Amino acid sequence: MRFLPVFLDLKAGPVVLIGAGELLRAKLRVLAAAGARLRVHAIDGDHDLGLGSDDTARVTLADGDPLTTDLSGVIAIVCAGAGGVGVAMSARAKALGLPVNVMDDLEHSSFIFPAIVDRGDVVVAVGTGGTSPVVARRVREKIEALLPARIGELAEFIGAFRKSINERIAEFPLRRRFWERVIDGPIGAAVLAGRKGEAEAALGKISDPTAFARTDKPEGSVTLVGAGPGDPDLLTIKALRALQDADVVFHDELVSPEILDRVRRDTARIPVGRRVGRPGIGQDAINKRMIEAAQAGQRVVRLKGGDPFVFGRGGEEIEALRAAGIAYSIIPGITAGLGGAADFEVPLTYRHEATRITFLTAHRARDAETVDWLTLTDTKMTVVVYMGMTAAPAVRAGLFAAGRSPETPVGVFARVTRPDAQGAIGTLRDLPELVRRINGGPAILIIGDVARHAGSLRRETPENNPKKIISDLLDAAE
Ligand code: SAH
Repeated sequence: MRFLPVFLDLKAGPVVLIGAGELLRAKLRVLAAAGARLRVHAIDGDHDLGLGSDDTARVTLADGDPLTTDLSGVIAIVCAGAGGVGVAMSARAKALGLPVNVMDDLEHSSFIFPAIVDRGDVVVAVGTGGTSPVVARRVREKIEALLPARIGELAEFIGAFRKSINERIAEFPLRRRFWERVIDGPIGAAVLAGRKGEAEAALGKISDPTAFARTDKPEGSVTLVGAGPGDPDLLTIKALRALQDADVVFHDELVSPEILDRVRRDTARIPVGRRVGRPGIGQDAINKRMIEAAQAGQRVVRLKGGDPFVFGRGGEEIEALRAAGIAYSIIPGITAGLGGAADFEVPLTYRHEATRITFLTAHRARDAETVDWLTLTDTKMTVVVYMGMTAAPAVRAGLFAAGRSPETPVGVFARVTRPDAQGAIGTLRDLPELVRRINGGPAILIIGDVARHAGSLRRETPENNPKKIISDLLDAAE
């Protein structure tokens, strides 16, 4: 470690900032954000510093020569885009024992600027000892993605209550335990979710903070997480964080191994879903196990393919959690219909062609019989069918009954967003045949004029041009 990261209070100021152009303005923004009092020498004479109205009171423009200006009381010198003036200024600062930074010039700097993640009271500084600001920036991006957006609010929240709570807990280790329990439990989760009022109320309800800190049992919770259709890069940042925080993950069979790889290594992963032809442990047993794990103080993630609330039984699960009084939250995921549309370039709505979308399930022919197909007569409605492979003939019959033309474009899209994704395009007349052409599910059906816009079909050979397939079929029908 060549430089020690420290956090400086710049309000004592002034800091002298010397330079030109966008480099100067960028440094000015950072320093102003830290509340610095600044004296700025814009050596190119461009005094348009792009300051906000709050900053102007703390920033003064200096016109004299920075090399001869009076530096008494100055706490640091920063040069950005200052050229040779920066080097000369560095010598002056060093002679006076003043900390100095010359941008991109390690030799003439006695301190350097880190890449910063700024979340209010929570600030992360990333440095590479001046070797590579680009590497520092990449590290910062990774941290940005991992840190909850409201982590600063959490620090502020605790700051506001710290004094009063600490006065009520005599022993230091117990105080720490108290705050750990608050941060890791439902109160912390509520602040991070932006529900500060709820968090305040819950904190207020803790009548005996010492007893709260002493209880061994941590407070468990369940997070329903949408895993998306398969591509792990389609996980939301929130989902990724939940996977990293979980003590146990109950997952559906549909969740891809690449996504399970994102779960923390020492976390138990328990498959609970059913698979075609093989029953899972059943919904009641799933609910029971989740509740038991949460009651035992574990952070439970219930990981589901796509979105938890789209044909995912999320509704039943939160009902059970509510009944058992378990804290829970829901993280949405990209549902297979949206993943498939993006993957195969089918715009689900399109001016003049499709003005609404229906997501439909037709698991077995029996389900298909219960669908009110007459609600699907509107030809400007795109119909996305889940679990519709086996029931494809019944789906076709139903849409015919709704008056849809046999020539309606149709796409069957399997294993969407995964490396082995596969699509087949045709018309409603051929739907069962298209399903046969796909080498297994899971697959969605997209039915409606917009299916004609489908882009790449990957393994569909030799004619893998969807537009041509559709137009050939339409020509043949005429
Ligand atoms: N909650 C899930 C749906 C679960 S129902 C979601 O929002 O996506 C299971 C059905 O989803 C499958 O029968 C299939 O129709 C569809 N499905 C799930 N993953 C899929 C994928 N990767 N490719 C195509 N269809 C998929």
